[in-house]
Amino acid sequence: MVTPARRQYLDIKAQHPDAILWFRMGDFYEMFDEDAKTAAQALHITLTGRPFGKDGRVPMAGVPYHAAHSYLARLLRQGFRVAICEQMSEPGRGLVDRAVVRVVTPGTVAEPALLPAKENSYLAVLCPSPAGYGIAYVDVTTGEFAVSEFLDGDPALSRVAIENDLLRIGPRECLVPKPESSEDPDAFAHGQPQTPGHITPYDARYFGLETATDALRGHFGVVSLEAFGCAHSPLAIRAAGAILAYLGETNAMLLPLLTGLRTYVADGTMHLDAATRRNLELHWTGRTQTAAHSLLGTLDGTKTAMGGRLLRRMLAQPLTNRAAIEERLDAVEAFVTRTTLRMQTLALLAGFGDMERLTARARQEAAIPRELLALRDALCAVPTLIEMLHDAASPALDTLAARLDPCVRVADLIGRAVLAPEGKEACRRVRPGYDNDFDTLVHTAMHARETIAAMETAERERTGIRSLKIKYNSVFGYGIEVSRPNLLHVPDDYRRTQTLTHAERFVTPELKEWEATILHAEERITTREEELYRGVLRDIGAAAPVLLGTARAVAHVDVFCALADRAVQHRYVRPTLADDTTLRIVAGRHPVVEASLANTGDTFIPNDAMLDTEGHQLLLLTGPNMAGKSTYLRQVALIVLMAQVGSFVPAESARIGLVDRIFTRIGAQDDLAAGASTFLVEMMETAAILRHATPRSLIVLDEVGRGTGTDDGVAIARAVVEDLVGRVQARTLFATHYHDLAEESGRLPGVQVASVAVAEEDGEVTFLHRITPGAMSKSYGIHVARLAGLPPHVVERARELLNRRDAENAEQAQRKSNRNSHDADKGAQSSVLIPPKGHPESAVLLDDLTALDLARMTPLEAIAVLGRLQDRARETLHHDGETAYNGREWATCHE
Ligand code: ADP
Ligand code: MG
Repeated sequence: MVTPARRQYLDIKAQHPDAILWFRMGDFYEMFDEDAKTAAQALHITLTGRPFGKDGRVPMAGVPYHAAHSYLARLLRQGFRVAICEQMSEPGRGLVDRAVVRVVTPGTVAEPALLPAKENSYLAVLCPSPAGYGIAYVDVTTGEFAVSEFLDGDPALSRVAIENDLLRIGPRECLVPKPESSEDPDAFAHGQPQTPGHITPYDARYFGLETATDALRGHFGVVSLEAFGCAHSPLAIRAAGAILAYLGETNAMLLPLLTGLRTYVADGTMHLDAATRRNLELHWTGRTQTAAHSLLGTLDGTKTAMGGRLLRRMLAQPLTNRAAIEERLDAVEAFVTRTTLRMQTLALLAGFGDMERLTARARQEAAIPRELLALRDALCAVPTLIEMLHDAASPALDTLAARLDPCVRVADLIGRAVLAPEGKEACRRVRPGYDNDFDTLVHTAMHARETIAAMETAERERTGIRSLKIKYNSVFGYGIEVSRPNLLHVPDDYRRTQTLTHAERFVTPELKEWEATILHAEERITTREEELYRGVLRDIGAAAPVLLGTARAVAHVDVFCALADRAVQHRYVRPTLADDTTLRIVAGRHPVVEASLANTGDTFIPNDAMLDTEGHQLLLLTGPNMAGKSTYLRQVALIVLMAQVGSFVPAESARIGLVDRIFTRIGAQDDLAAGASTFLVEMMETAAILRHATPRSLIVLDEVGRGTGTDDGVAIARAVVEDLVGRVQARTLFATHYHDLAEESGRLPGVQVASVAVAEEDGEVTFLHRITPGAMSKSYGIHVARLAGLPPHVVERARELLNRRDAENAEQAQRKSNRNSHDADKGAQSSVLIPPKGHPESAVLLDDLTALDLARMTPLEAIAVLGRLQDRARETLHHDGETAYNGREWATCHE
C-alpha cells in the first residue's frame, strides 16, 4: 500500500521518466528516489530520506524555491532535463493538486537568468532519412526559426554538411527521433551526426510528415507552407513539426514567439525554390513536357553520365561565393581558348564509364566482372586526361588535374584479378596467375577433365567399340555410354549405372576416381573464387573515397569542357562578377529561345538590362501579348543564373553583381492538380518572395495579380511593387499588362518603366522584341488574336469595333476637355461596375459578348477576345465615369 501523496508522485514521475522531477512541497522542490540521488551528486546537496507510509523511507533531496534558478542552471549545464511540478490548489485538508507546468531542457530555457547573455540559445532538430537530413532550429530567446535540408546525393557528404551546419548553429540541445519507434529503422544507418549540445531522443511520431505539416499549418494559420519556402522539403517540415511539438510539451509559452519560418541553404549555394526552377525551365519544359527546350537541354554537352548528373545539380544550385564561381569560369575559359584540347577531351570522355555508379556497385559487393573491367578502363584513361590537362599550362586545369587520381593500385588489381567474361570461361571471374592455390585447383580440374577425355579414346581402342562415348550427366556424373548393339563387347571392369532406351552407361573405378577429383576441385574452385572475388571487391570498396574523388573530378572536367564547347558554339562570353548589386547586361539573349529560333533560321533580338539598388531597382515592363516580355524577364534571370553556375553567358558583355537568390513568379499557371487555385498559388509564391528576398536578391515577377479581378489585381500588384522598392529593396523585373500600374508606379523612386517596341504600318503590327524606355498604352490584342488563328471575319469585326470605339473615345475626350475638370482627381474611390442602361458602348459590348460562339473557339482565342472585351469594358467605364461622375444615379469610378 502506498500513501496518496506517494501515489501522486509516482504517477507524475511515470509521465516524465527522462527528466528529474521537481515536486513542489511548500517552499521546496523535492526530489525522490533515483532523482534525489542524481541531483544530490550533481548539485552537492544533502541526500536525506522521507518516510512514505508502509513504503518505508525513500531517498529525498530538495532545493529551496527561492534559490531554484541557480540549481536549475547547474542541472541544465550538465545536460539534465527538469520537470517542474507545481501545487495547483491551496494546501488545506486532503491532497494538494499537482501538475507539471514546464519541462526545462537545455534547449528550451529562455529565462535570461539561466542563460549566458551574449549567446543565442538554439534548439535544433535533426530528421534523418536514408537520403540525407532535414534540420530545423529555433532560437528560443529570439524566435528565429529556420529549416533546411541536406541532400548531397551521397549520404556521407550529407553527413559532413549537416555536421558543419550544426557546428555553425551550436545548439544547446538537439532532438533526434527515438530509434526504437522510428519510422525507418535505418534512419541513422550512416551514423548519427556529431553535434554540439545534448542529444534528446524524441518520440518519432512527431516526425511524421502529416503530423508535422498539420502542426506547422495550425501554428501559423496558413493553408500551405509555400510562403515559408519549405513546402517541397519534407525532411525540413518533419524537423520543424517536431520542434513545435517539443516546445508545446516543454515550454508552450515560447510558441507565440515563433512568428515566421525561414528556409535556408547553408553551403554557399543559391537556394532556388521549386516555383523558380519550374518557371525558369532549368531541367524540364512545362509546355513541351520534355527536357529538350530547358536550360539543361541547351547547355548539356557532357559526355559522361557523371558529368550529366553534375551539370544538372549545378544548374539547380548556383553558387554565391565569387571566388568559387571564378574558379569554375577559369576552367571553362581554359577550354574555350584551347580548341584542340577541348576536342581531345570531349573525344576521350565520350567512352568514359560511369565511375561513380561502378564504384558504388563495387562498394555494395554487387559489381560483376564486366563492371569492374569498365571501371578499370576508365581508370586507365585518367593518366591521359591528367597529361592533357597539364600540357595545357593553365592553372585552373592544373587544379583539376590535381584532383584526378588514377588509382593505379585499383586499376592494377582489377587488371590482374578479374577475368573478362569470354567464351567457355564465361563462368570464371578470376584471372589465371592471380592466386597460386586457385590456379592449382583449376589446373587439377582441367587435368582431370583432359584425362577423362583421353580415356574415351583409350576405351574405344581397348573395347573396339567405335561409338563409345564418355558423357556427363548432372545426376549420375560421368559415364561410359555404349549403344545396345555393342553391349556384348563391354569389358568386365565396367559397372552399369544407368539404362537408357538405346544405350547403357557404365563407370570404371578409374573414371570414378577422376570424377571425384574434378568434383572436389570444382567445389574448392567455387569457394576460393568467391573468396578472391569478394576480396577484390572489398579492396575496391576500401578505395571508394579516392575513386569517387576522381569520378567527381572527371565529372567536373566533363562539365567545364562541355560548357566551353557550348559557349564557343553559341557565342557566349565570360561574365564579370562583382560583389556589389549592379547588374548590367549588354545585348543579352535568352539561351533557349535563341537556340530554338536558330533551328528555324530566325534571329533573336538581343536586349540590354540594367538593375541596381539605387536608381534602377525595379524595371516595370509593359507591352502587348507575345511581344517578348516573359522572354526578356527569363533571359535576365537565366544570364545571372548561368553566370553564378560558372558558365559563360549569352550576351555581348555581362557584369553581374552577385545575387543571393533568384525568385520568380511567372505567368498565371494552373496548379489545380495540387489542390490550390491559380490565384492562391500565385499569392503563396508572391508571399514567399516578399518574405525571403533580401537586397541581394533578384526577383522576376510576370503578371502578378492576374489571377484575380482587375481591381484586386492592380491593387495587389501596386502594393507588391511598393513593398519591393520600399522595404525589400531587391532588384526586380516586373512585367505587367496593367497600363495604369505602369503609369502610377513609374513615379516611385527606383522604378524604371519600359515597354517592348512594336512597329505599326498600315494596320499591320510587327513585334520588334526590343525593350525601349517608357510605357506603352496599346495592347495590340487584335493583332495577337489574328496570330492565334481567330477566324478572319471575327478579326475584321473586332477591328471595326475598335475603330468605332476609338472614334467615340476621341469624341468623349473632346467633350471632357470642354468641361470644367473639378473632378479630375478621384482615382481612389471604389467602383461598382454596373453599366448604365442604354449606354451605347456597353450595348455594343454586350452584343459582341452575346455574339461569341464559344464552342468554336480555342482557349487561346477565347482569352484573346476576352482580354479585348475587358479592355474595352474598362475603357468604357473609365470614360463614362469621368463624364458622368456628377449627377448620375449610379456610382462608378475607375481604378
Ligand atoms: P509576352 O510575355 O510579352 O507575351 P513572350 O516573351 O512569351 O511574350 O514572347 C513571345 C514569343 O516571341 C516567344 O515565344 C519568342 O518566340 C518570341 N520572342 C520573344 N522575345 C524575342 C526576341 N528578343 N527575339 C526574337 N524573338 C523573341
Ligand atoms: Mg508573358
